[in-house]
Amino acid sequence: MTSTVQDPFITLPEEEAPAAVRHCENCELAKQRTRVIWGEGNPEAPIVLILDNPGAREDREGNAFLCGTRETLQRGLKAAGLTTDSVYVTYLLKCRPIRAYDKPAARSACSPHLELQLREKKPDVLFGFGNVVAEELLPGMENPSVKELRGSWHEVQGIPIGFTYHPLAVRRRPNLMRIFVEDLTALKDRWEAVMKQR
Ligand code: SF4
Repeated sequence: MTSTVQDPFITLPEEEAPAAVRHCENCELAKQRTRVIWGEGNPEAPIVLILDNPGAREDREGNAFLCGTRETLQRGLKAAGLTTDSVYVTYLLKCRPIRAYDKPAARSACSPHLELQLREKKPDVLFGFGNVVAEELLPGMENPSVKELRGSWHEVQGIPIGFTYHPLAVRRRPNLMRIFVEDLTALKDRWEAVMKQR
């Protein structure tokens, strides 16, 4: 984990993919990726954050470059009062797409990996970022959008899940940051409510 005084953002430690998945070739992304990326952050965190797919930084092993997605995400978490230690970040797709690909086929092929992660980690709360994640995780809804979903709670594998904008959308439209922080604050409140119920 790296951190400097000038840069309050950190590169979260990556969790290695299980041996059985490290060489997964269940979809065409196996031919595009450099490697399978399982997730990063605290592997035992009570909150699991779900993004659509890894980006360039994750694809290049060992490059401690902090991308815009992470910086915006960490800025939002910090403003909401959530520590990076309380979260684990993972993806719908565990490989970085570079060229066009069959998205429904890849998502369907990769979903057992996320299901396995959630079964093993048993987090208290989940949070999804962006419409792609909402579409995949709420298959019963027609064209779900985070604009309509934010502020409500759903369930995935029996775990409460909320949604907000993708960090890159927030980066492109800084006026979304206030909403982003509001949603992450709702996530923190929900997690605290779960802890109180114990
Ligand atoms: S995206 Fe998922 S299913 Fe496709 S090759 Fe990578 S790990 Fe396997």
